[in-house]
Amino acid sequence: MNMEEYRGVWVFIEQRNGELVDVGLELLGAGRDLADKLEVDLCGILLGHNVKDRAKDLFEYGADKVYVIDDPILELYRTETYMKAVGDLVRKYKPEIFLYGATANGKDLASAVATEVMTGLTADTTLLDVNLDKRLFEASRPAFGGNIMATILCKKHRPQMATVRPKVMKKADPQPGREGELIEESISVQEENLKTKVIDIVRDTNKAVNLEEADIIVAAGKGIKDEKGWKMVEELADVLNATVGASRDVVEMGICGHEHQVGQTGATVTPKLYIAIGISGAVQHVVGMQNSELIIAINTDPDAAIFNASHYGVVADAFEIVPLLTEEFRKVLQ
Ligand code: FAD
Repeated sequence: MNMEEYRGVWVFIEQRNGELVDVGLELLGAGRDLADKLEVDLCGILLGHNVKDRAKDLFEYGADKVYVIDDPILELYRTETYMKAVGDLVRKYKPEIFLYGATANGKDLASAVATEVMTGLTADTTLLDVNLDKRLFEASRPAFGGNIMATILCKKHRPQMATVRPKVMKKADPQPGREGELIEESISVQEENLKTKVIDIVRDTNKAVNLEEADIIVAAGKGIKDEKGWKMVEELADVLNATVGASRDVVEMGICGHEHQVGQTGATVTPKLYIAIGISGAVQHVVGMQNSELIIAINTDPDAAIFNASHYGVVADAFEIVPLLTEEFRKVLQ
């Protein structure tokens, strides 16, 4: 492999029904920094049907070039078609860094492309940089239960690929009217040769809980004791227009479904505000919420580990303070 042939920073731009998913724009912000350091182009990779017009948004968010494949066969995400299309683009244009959002489809595609073009992939990175002396991409992520940051290098293969969780990177401010180069490509796959067909998409109506994309999360731990305590937390969440999260113990007590669980075996969240109520702060919980912008913990135990992971701590009985907070926020916000 001739590494010198590989240049440029690419970002996979996910879209759903033609709407750009935010994480793609966030990665254009992060990718812009990397591309500027390396003095190369930042490129968006946009696949779908009737999506070509969205390229102008990508230029405004920092892309110098956008590679588009606009084809009915790409209307709905399928690993097979997207992997083939992206794999062909990688082989033809040879990027050195390739970033994907760590959404369900982004993770699926990134790992499929890694096997298709035989390169490495770092999952769930939270920090991106480049070592200019060695021209190496440095993708860092929490490891060992969040106790250390591991920086992963891909020294012998290209492109160097990483997935990044939504809301970890900041979107750049759009520059209205900024222009770039649109490169249209086609896909060589025929529908009749595909192994998978999407017959129907059924939305899970139970899954109104979208923790990963929530701006505010009010989370309940075993300290809320029972359904009555859960209701109290829901009321606070309602006033704050927040999503309700939970520790594993609350899920295991049958008070709420697993879709509410935050932590190692639940969702990893990065809201602007995380209020932890009656949660002790076990490492398996903390790894899932420690990157929240502002963390406030309420706990009766002044030595609870959650206070070490919090910006503000309130030593109090949840059953006293939460209804008061709900009442005060209601006065201010409603
Ligand atoms: P507890 O640890 O029992 O804490 C309850 C807290 O409430 C205490 O700190 C107490 O002081 C406080 N409290 C009590 N009464 C009140 C009151 N009236 N007002 C205010 N505070 C009060 N856990 C997760 O959350 N998510 C995961 O994804 C996860 N994955 C795991 C994976 C593995 C492999 C393992 C082994 C464990 C995992 N766990 C996970 C479990 C984790 O180790 C803890 O057991 C769990 O997080 C504890 O939940 P908790 O904080 O609600 O309960």
